[in-house]
Amino acid sequence: MLPFVRSDLAQLVTYAPGGASGNFDAPSGAIDRLDTNESPYDLPDELKQKLAWLFQQELESNRYPDGGHDSLKAAIVEYVNESTSSPIALGQISVGNGSDELIRSLLIATCLGRAGSILVAQPTFSMYAILAKTLGIPVVAIERSRLNFEMDLAAAQVAISPGLRRNSEPAPPIRVVFVVHPNSPTGNALTPAELAWLRSLPDHILVVIDEAYFEFSQTTVVEELSLRSNWIVLRTFSKAFRLAAHRVGYAIAHPELIATLEKIRLPYNLPSFSIAAARLALAQRRSLLAAIPALLDERTRLIQAVAHPNLQVWQSEANFVFMRLQSNSEDDLDRLFQTLKTQGTLVRKISGGLRITIGTPSENLRTIDRLKAALASP
Ligand SMILES: *Cc1c(COP(=O)(O)O)cnc(C)c1O
Repeated sequence: MLPFVRSDLAQLVTYAPGGASGNFDAPSGAIDRLDTNESPYDLPDELKQKLAWLFQQELESNRYPDGGHDSLKAAIVEYVNESTSSPIALGQISVGNGSDELIRSLLIATCLGRAGSILVAQPTFSMYAILAKTLGIPVVAIERSRLNFEMDLAAAQVAISPGLRRNSEPAPPIRVVFVVHPNSPTGNALTPAELAWLRSLPDHILVVIDEAYFEFSQTTVVEELSLRSNWIVLRTFSKAFRLAAHRVGYAIAHPELIATLEKIRLPYNLPSFSIAAARLALAQRRSLLAAIPALLDERTRLIQAVAHPNLQVWQSEANFVFMRLQSNSEDDLDRLFQTLKTQGTLVRKISGGLRITIGTPSENLRTIDRLKAALASP
């Protein structure tokens, strides 16, 4: 370890991205990439042509991007307001280089310099803890029910109540609670009890509600933002909008919190091409999002088709499903994962189970066939 590098970074390992972009060297055409929850569909040709045209005719490569994102924010406001009766304003939006950037900015704004710890309910999206650790921010993890993945709210309450914590832990108090709605990798939306607990949190604790899968679940808490200055909603263009390559996410919250995020972000955090892609996707949202109902039908079909006594498959509100082997054997799970991978179906092995993204109908058929065959052979 180089002596000038923070010693706490020594234990951290570099995040390994999804298999296709990671160290997996089969020809990508032959692989069903069902491990990172992207849309299986690229942008339609006409939209790619339109983007190429914009790049050629309108983007000036020698100029910095629009650092204020005003045109993109205006389009986001219009989109968000389609699904809420409590409209939001431009000053309630901040745009990030993926929602990952927004997560990091929130951590910087709230917990840096031992000002706070974060609370997560495992299993959940790994980025919260990963990014916190790179900033030296302590992570407190509580568990979820093994049956339905509801959060252990009693443990959560203990975690946020310093007086209730056993022995005087040196960690700073919880400043942020991160939840995903619906959760990844498990696919369940927040329950009324979980929402009630989040509403009960004092205003010195920030509640981050990550709605990365909103377009699939159609469940959102945006409606409540006008009542709660300590809630923030995160969304992304990486999933239903088919723009994972372009890295665009956004946050919706109280104008003061948004102003804080704007102070922290890098001045030109979004490339001009990404801004153009996101604006185009929003303008064409009706046709892009029209693919979702069929994808949800595919999800139902897959869940039904892989039913097997040794496999527990949960219902999902998102574009992926989570499953565990009834035997709970890590070796068996690893064998199943490797068998799928060898045949070209790349899924995510996580939290003692497999998370499988819903792909195209033919990808899903292969998933079903390969899973069934693997489960049938001892
Ligand atoms: C995929 C995903 C995101 C998206 O992150 P980006 O940086 O916008 O690509 C955010 N949160 C969760 C829970 C996700 O699963």
